[in-house]
Amino acid sequence: MSKPALVIVGAGMAGTAAAYAAVSAGAAVTLVYDRAGATALTSGALDLEPWDAPLSFEHAKHERDAGRDAELTAFLAALGFYRRGAAEPKSTCVVATASGVVRSAFGADQALLDLSPLAGKRIAVADVERDDWDAPLLAKTLAVSAWAERTGTSFVPVALGLLRSGHERRIAPYDFAALHDEEARRRSLAEAIEAAPGVADAWLFGPWLGLEPSTVTALRAVVPLPLGETLSPLGGPAGARFEGARDRLLQAHGVAVVHARVTRVEARGPRFALALDADAGGAEARELEAAAVVLATGGVGAGGVTFTWSRPGVVSGFELPISAPVALALDGETLGGGGSLYGPSLEVLGLGALERVGIACDRLGRPVGTNSPQSGLFVAGDAVAGRPRTMLEAALAGLAAGNVAVRG
Ligand SMILES: Cc1cc2nc3c(=O)[nH]c(=O)nc-3n(C[C@H](O)[C@H](O)[C@H](O)COP(=O)(O)OP(=O)(O)OC[C@H]3O[C@@H](n4cnc5c(N)ncnc54)[C@H](O)[C@@H]3O)c2cc1C
Repeated sequence: MSKPALVIVGAGMAGTAAAYAAVSAGAAVTLVYDRAGATALTSGALDLEPWDAPLSFEHAKHERDAGRDAELTAFLAALGFYRRGAAEPKSTCVVATASGVVRSAFGADQALLDLSPLAGKRIAVADVERDDWDAPLLAKTLAVSAWAERTGTSFVPVALGLLRSGHERRIAPYDFAALHDEEARRRSLAEAIEAAPGVADAWLFGPWLGLEPSTVTALRAVVPLPLGETLSPLGGPAGARFEGARDRLLQAHGVAVVHARVTRVEARGPRFALALDADAGGAEARELEAAAVVLATGGVGAGGVTFTWSRPGVVSGFELPISAPVALALDGETLGGGGSLYGPSLEVLGLGALERVGIACDRLGRPVGTNSPQSGLFVAGDAVAGRPRTMLEAALAGLAAGNVAVRG
């Protein structure tokens, strides 16, 4: 008997989790995506709720996800480089930004330095002569953070001569990180740490420890002290490490990947037809067929939902750039499109509305609010209206959608 065929649109955290769950449930999966989304911009922190700005969501807690813990852990392990807080489920990692914020996270990219087991210790901040990095100032800022003061943790700048040429002062963190994927550079980094005065219990670096997860693993194998990075900036190495891990996971699980833009999802009897745009290489536009579809197309930030201004501060309309039997919603209201003179006012709703608008769904990710709801169509991640925009929300929603799409 042939496997049920599922098409997933989107290769961020949600689409990747949906593919993992669906393949694990025995489906033949094709994943279509056309560009990087929010996940490729990740800081490296895995949050369930936005850590800094509580928004007003329909349901703040994750009642839908009861029982999904083991699957989430297995998925993160399959991704190969994320971990969760040490004593699950309540403990969290503690991570630092390059501007001196110390905060908790449910989990993190393994290349990050988890400060939680280092509470009360002395941490060396690598003093490297890069233009975007001021180790003495960062060490001072981290030392006066509420977490450091509460736990009695100290931070000290320690000079490390890591630069090989003047231009390495200015290249992007992504490119500087890539240099350390080379074995010779990695070795000299380890030697520099060994030669530095032994004043600390751990090392905190900028986001420079490789685009490959194996780089930090190799460093940790030879450096006796804990070491790791701060959170990544936009487009930094944490996003690149996610993309590498995702590609390896999809390949290992036999997911067929198509690089194309989906322009239409249409029900044809009990099945779906997806129209794919011609790709930049000139290949013909074509169609895919599927028994079920997961839309993991991201939110406004990733272009999964678009909007236009009618005048400054007032949105004339939110739109889904794919033609599909779904409806957009904001704060529980379905957006009819064109029904009022002006659309939603961001001056009234606040910019947070851009993070709440999405496809109207029930708690299993099934679209609601249309006249012709289609069974077999699911939505996950930032594409869903009124759910937190976080990595773990996307992962949990993707796992749920992948499971329900295959198992029903
Ligand atoms: C700057 C920034 C920092 C963040 N920091 C954190 C953080 O510290 N902690 C945290 O937990 N979360 C953070 N987030 C949020 C988190 O990154 C997102 O919630 C999560 O990555 C969303 O994943 P997703 O799979 O739903 O969407 P995305 O990653 O946006 O993926 C969308 C996918 O859909 C594809 N796609 C869209 N339309 C089409 C189409 N028509 N055809 C084909 N493919 C299509 C895109 O190519 C892409 O692959 C941050 C987000 C941003 C932008």
